[in-house]
Formats: sequence, structure tokens, C-alpha cells
Amino acid sequence: MAPVAASQGISLYELDFPGLESLIQSWGERPYRARQLWHWLYAHHATGFNEMLNLPQALRQRLQTEAVISSPSIVETAEAGDGETRKDLLQLQDGETIETVLMYYERRRTACISTQVGCPVGCTFCATGQMGFRRNLTVGEIVVQVLHFARVLSRTQERLTNVVLMGMGEPLLNYDASLAAVRRITAPEGLNIGQRHVTISTVGVIPGIDRLADEQGATPDTSLQVTLAVSLHAATDELREQIVPINRQYPLDSLFAACRRYAERTGRRITFEWALIHNLNDSIDQAEALIERLSDLPAHVNLIRLNPTERCQARPPERSRVKAFADTLDRHGISVTVRLRRGIDIGAGCGQLRQRGERQSGVQSPRT
Ligand code: SAH
Ligand code: SF4
Repeated sequence: MAPVAASQGISLYELDFPGLESLIQSWGERPYRARQLWHWLYAHHATGFNEMLNLPQALRQRLQTEAVISSPSIVETAEAGDGETRKDLLQLQDGETIETVLMYYERRRTACISTQVGCPVGCTFCATGQMGFRRNLTVGEIVVQVLHFARVLSRTQERLTNVVLMGMGEPLLNYDASLAAVRRITAPEGLNIGQRHVTISTVGVIPGIDRLADEQGATPDTSLQVTLAVSLHAATDELREQIVPINRQYPLDSLFAACRRYAERTGRRITFEWALIHNLNDSIDQAEALIERLSDLPAHVNLIRLNPTERCQARPPERSRVKAFADTLDRHGISVTVRLRRGIDIGAGCGQLRQRGERQSGVQSPRT
């Protein structure tokens, strides 16, 4: 269960709208006060109760003593030289830190948010995987990352347009909190980010993919139109097991069967992520194995050159190898893009800023 009562009071961002409504009503207030408070939290990104001038003073005072608007503190900010990526290390109430990234691309403003502190999956090339698993984030801790950048952007009269669950952690291993956060972020009376502008990235947790397919195929008012990205990185079990350990639990045949169920149920194309690693998964053989796997699936492939991490020897391939891999997919009619490694100079691969902080402070994360 999410810790709703923070040490200084009820953490309002842990509550959904009915939860907020019942809190306000239990205090003897009229129900429309909940709507007003909600508006302050999500439309105005309020940081304190004093600014909520349309609420009666007595209610503001009670909120002041019994509730909190938690906003995590920034431990470190890193901005890439190109001014197009900003990465913040945020500290949570219990002292844990998470990374969250803001990317500027043309008119898009994308927040890349975390769903867990660390990650239990342990992909070899991933800085978050290398640090082990600490805990799941609560729904409020996921939502406030989005609010954090919405506030940053509002200082320059800009709006956040996109959200990707591609920071630290595996969203489908923290399913309930991640999905509740997505619903909050996309609700018209919430943060109002278009559902089509939200991407959930998974390493391939099959039960989670099936649950997501059920949600998306549900009744019109509850259905979700978000994009699913599957981090594949290899198209044969032998290779994938080496770099993505969860492949032993969810091997490729079952993963692709789940992807087909998802595509049939939702009518949506799936994005496959592939971090290209020199001499490992950058061969034409792997490209051909991928083509085979995608033959009966509406898909898009995102290639990215590996962002090197400290605790792994793996290196990115030469650009010519990236091009050859992409061209092979393209020639077979597979939609493919090569993603830029944004903010490479600030270590904007997931988990890298926290890893640097641990090194500087001598903190060692326990591995699970
Ligand atoms: N756990 C989820 C979401 C977080 S990771 C998942 O694995 O999909 C987000 C993306 O960053 C994944 O595609 C992951 O494989 C990729 N990634 C992690 N470390 C990377 C690195 N060092 N270089 C390039 N991509 C990396
Ligand atoms: Fe976890 Fe994703 Fe990193 Fe793998 S790539 S360790 S699943 S965060």
C-alpha cells in the first residue's frame, strides 16, 4: 500500500480524486472544495496552501496542519551543453534519490520519469540495473516528477507535452502505482497530457503487458491510448539472456506472443527499443532475426547507441554499424529510427547520475 500519511501529514499527491473528495467531506467541507483543491494541485501546480485564496481560511489552516503537498528536493541538476537535456536527481522523503530527465526536442517537451528506486531486473548495460533494487515508488512520487518539470517549464510559459516511463525502474513490476500515475497525468482534470503522448517502456514483463492490453481494450471511458515500448536488445534467446536476465523467465517466443495479443487487442503498434552494443547485438544476423520476429506484428524499432556505464565493459558500435543495422531493417519495410543519445555529457542514460552521486559520497547500493 502507498504510504498515504507522510510524517508531516497526509500526502495529497497520493490521493486520487475520490480519495481527496472523501477526505474533504470527512472534514465537514462541501464536496466542491475537493474540486477546487484538485485544481490547485494539478492545474496551478501549487506548492503551498496559502496561495489557495478561494478556499476558506479554516480549511487552508487545517490543510496546513494535517496535509502536505510533497515536492521532492533537487540534490543535483545537470544540463547538457546543447541545452536540450536537463537531468535532476531528486531526493524523496526517506532520503532515497531518483533521476528524472527533461528533454527539449523541437516543440516537444518530454519528461522521462522513474517508477522504482533502482531496478530488480539487472540488465548488464544499465546503470539502474547495476545498482540493484531499493523499493517501488508510490503513485505520488511518480506524479510529482511530472509536476516538477511542469513547474520548471511554466517559468518560461512553456508546457510539458510528453511523458515517457523510461527513467529508473521497471514500470510493469510496479504496475498499480505506474498505471494510477499515468491516469492522473493524462486526466483532463489532472495534468492533461494527451494519452497518445505517453509511453510506457517495459523490459518485457508478460503479465504486465497482458494487464495493459486489458485496460486499453476496456470500455471507452477507461481505455488507455498510451504507447507501449518493449526493450528488446536481442532477437535470439541465447543472446538476450546474457544482457537481459528476465529473458529466462519470459523468453522471446512467449514475449512476442504477448506482443501479438497486445497488438490485436488494442490495434496499436508497438515500439521496440534496441541499445546497440559493439560486437554483441549490432550484427546483421541479429537484424535479420529481428526482421523474422517482426514479420507479423505492427511495430516500430528505435535504435540507440549504447550509453556506456561505469560498471560494464560494453561499448557503443561505430556509426557505420548502426547505419548498416538500420538499413537492413529499412530494406525489409520495418519502420526504424536511430535515436540520438541525448545529454551524453551529463550521463543521461538511466541511473547514471545517481551512480555518480554514490561514487562521490562513497555510498554502495546493496544488490538484490
Ligand atoms: N525498465 C524499463 C524502463 C526503464 S529503462 C525498460 O527496460 O524498458 C529505459 C530504456 O533505457 C530501456 O530501453 C533501456 O534498455 C534503456 N537503457 C538502459 N541503459 C542504457 C544504456 N546504458 N544505453 C542505452 N540505453 C539504455
Ligand atoms: Fe531495469 Fe530497464 Fe535498466 Fe533493465 S534496462 S535494469 S529493466 S531499468
